Amino acid sequence: MNNFSYTKIKELSDASVLLKDHKGNKAIAGGTNIVDLMKYFVVEANTLVDLNGISGMDALTETETGSVLLGALMTNAATAYHPVIEEKYPLLSRTILAGASGQIRNMATNGGNLLQKTRCYYFYDPHVPCNKREPGSGCPAVKGYNRIHAILGHSQDCIAVFPSDMCVALAALNATVHVKSAEGKRQIDFEDFHRLPGNSPEIDNNLKEGEIITAIELPNEDFSQNYSYLKLRDRSSYAFALVSVATAFKIENNRITEARIALGGVAHKPWRSHEAEEYLKGKSPDREHFAQAAEIILADAKGFKHNRFKIKLARKAIIRNCMMALEPDSQRPGAKPSL
Ligand SMILES: Cc1cc2nc3c(=O)[nH]c(=O)nc-3n(C[C@H](O)[C@H](O)[C@H](O)COP(=O)(O)OP(=O)(O)OC[C@H]3O[C@@H](n4cnc5c(N)ncnc54)[C@H](O)[C@@H]3O)c2cc1C
Repeated sequence: MNNFSYTKIKELSDASVLLKDHKGNKAIAGGTNIVDLMKYFVVEANTLVDLNGISGMDALTETETGSVLLGALMTNAATAYHPVIEEKYPLLSRTILAGASGQIRNMATNGGNLLQKTRCYYFYDPHVPCNKREPGSGCPAVKGYNRIHAILGHSQDCIAVFPSDMCVALAALNATVHVKSAEGKRQIDFEDFHRLPGNSPEIDNNLKEGEIITAIELPNEDFSQNYSYLKLRDRSSYAFALVSVATAFKIENNRITEARIALGGVAHKPWRSHEAEEYLKGKSPDREHFAQAAEIILADAKGFKHNRFKIKLARKAIIRNCMMALEPDSQRPGAKPSL
C-alpha cells in the first residue's frame, strides 16, 4: 500500500472537484473493496476522499410517484432488511443477502457495490499483465486459468466478469443510477451504467470523472409475487457467483405478462436478454418455455478452456430459477422447492 492522505468531505461538490482535478485521488465509502485494492498495489491513491460526511445519502426515500430512492451511502445490510425493500422489492433483498458476509454487508454501501472491481485473479496480481489494470499489457486469462471468467460479451482484450449480486437484481428491476458532480446531475439507466470490455476494458462503467453516485432509483413496479435469485458458487457462503440468475415475473391467468431475467458471473456487466423476455410474454410459465428462453439467452455464449462448464450450468440455472420464481416461498432458508 502506498502512503496516502485522508480527508472526510461534507459537500458533494468539494468531493467532486477533489476527484476530478486530482486524478490520483480516490473516493472511499465502506472501504471493503478499495482498501483491499490498495493493499494489493492494484490501486494507488494520493488522497482517500471519504464520502461519508456528505449528508442525505444514507437513507431510503419514497418518492411521490411511488418509486424508491436508495441512498448511495446506505449500507447493503440496511437496504436488504429495510421493510420497504423486503415487501416491495424482495428480489433485491435476496440478491444482497446472497453476497459477501454479514460483517461486510454492514460496511459495504450501495454506491460502492456498483463500483466494485472484478475478481479476476490476474487483475489482482500486479506482477502479471492485465489490460484492465494496465491498458495494452495483455490478458493472460484468455489462455490462462479462466474458470471464473466470462462466457458472454467478452473481448480478446478482457474476459473478466463483474462480481456483484445486488446489481443483478438492479438490472432486472430496471433501476436508474442518480449521479452528481460539481457541474450538475444526471440519471443513467442501469443497463447503460456498466459496460462491456471491448478494446478498453480499463473502463468499467459510464461514470464520468468527478461524478459521484448519490442514489439508485427503483421504479414503482410490483415484482413481489413471482421472483427468485439463484447463486451457484464453489461454497455456499462467502464466495462470488460462478453463475447467478435473478428472475421476476408478472403472471395473469397462467400467462406471463412481463418477464425479467438477468444473469451474474457471466459477463463484464449484469447480463439481460430482452429477446428472451419478449419471447416469454404471453406464454404459460412452464419448463419448456423457460428452456427455450435459456437457449435464447445463451445463443452467443462462448467459453474458454476452464469455464465451458458455465454454459451448461447457466442453462440449467436459468430454467431452475424460473421454476423457483413460481414458488417464491422456496427462497426461505431451509425450504425445499417442490420442482
Ligand atoms: C471477502 C469479500 C467477499 C465479498 N463477496 C461478495 C459477494 O459475494 N457478492 C457481492 O456482490 N459482493 C461481494 N463483495 C464485495 C462487496 O459487496 C463490495 O466490496 C462492496 O459492495 C463495496 O462497497 P463499499 O462501500 O465498501 O465500497 P468502497 O470499497 O468504499 O469503494 C468501492 C469503489 O467505489 C467507489 N465509490 C464508492 N462509493 C461511491 C459513490 N457514492 N460515488 C462514486 N464512487 C464511489 C470507490 O472510489 C471505489 O472505487 C465481497 C467483498 C469482500 C471483501
